[in-house]
Amino acid sequence: MNRGKGCLWMVSLLVAWLFTGVPTVDGQDDDLFFQQARQKMVDRQIRARGVRHQAVVEAMANVPRHRFVPQPLQTMAYVDHPLLIGHEQTISQPYIVAKMSELLDVGPGQKVLEVGTGSGYQAAVLAHMGADVYSIEIIPALGQRARKTLAGLGYRRVHVAIGDGYLGWPDHAPFDGIIVTCAPSHIPQPLQDQLAEGGRLVIPVGPAGKRQELVLLRKVDGKIQKEKVFPVRFVPMKNEKGVNY
Ligand code: SAH
Repeated sequence: MNRGKGCLWMVSLLVAWLFTGVPTVDGQDDDLFFQQARQKMVDRQIRARGVRHQAVVEAMANVPRHRFVPQPLQTMAYVDHPLLIGHEQTISQPYIVAKMSELLDVGPGQKVLEVGTGSGYQAAVLAHMGADVYSIEIIPALGQRARKTLAGLGYRRVHVAIGDGYLGWPDHAPFDGIIVTCAPSHIPQPLQDQLAEGGRLVIPVGPAGKRQELVLLRKVDGKIQKEKVFPVRFVPMKNEKGVNY
């Protein structure tokens, strides 16, 4: 983004915030300010960077991202950055959510596993694409909040469990797609095992705070094909004792 435009954007956010106040989370408001911010996000961050998948673009244009971030940050929800959601965790940058959804390429009626519910936003985007989403979060307070947010917005296709997603969700396996939004140092075997034939697994892999790669895995004739996408930075995947995988 050019610097002048970036400044203008920040100033307009500030002005909008001063004049409208901070909207309430429990109100049903998705007013003009947020709709315009979301459309700009789709044009300048998603489409401008080459995401063409129609269902992804449509989901990003419709899911109210501001409802998934803490109230004081709502007016910042559509900026080109990840944001803090509490408990040292983040909601991913909009482009990363779009790119990972495009790589996953799921459609109506397909079953998806998400590891790392966080705010619930990524799960809502996949549900908007028509997928049935089974999402696991290891921090109980985040999982419970995401459940409430998703229910409040009417996303009935998303099921949230509290637990360690390294192990997957065997009761609902196999999955047509698996998306992981926290980074382990290696690709968990249970997730590879729970992938359906023809399914896709999108996962950041690498050490905490260091270089990680986004990896796309496909299961073809029972065998795993692996492709690196680009470098990324995600929060680490941890076990229930808080130790990084
Ligand atoms: N997809 C989220 C972003 C989540 S950030 C969103 O759209 O907002 C990554 C999340 O992974 C954090 O909430 C973190 O607590 C969670 N996490 C880390 N290790 C995990 C594990 N082993 N199982 C499930 N969730 C885990």
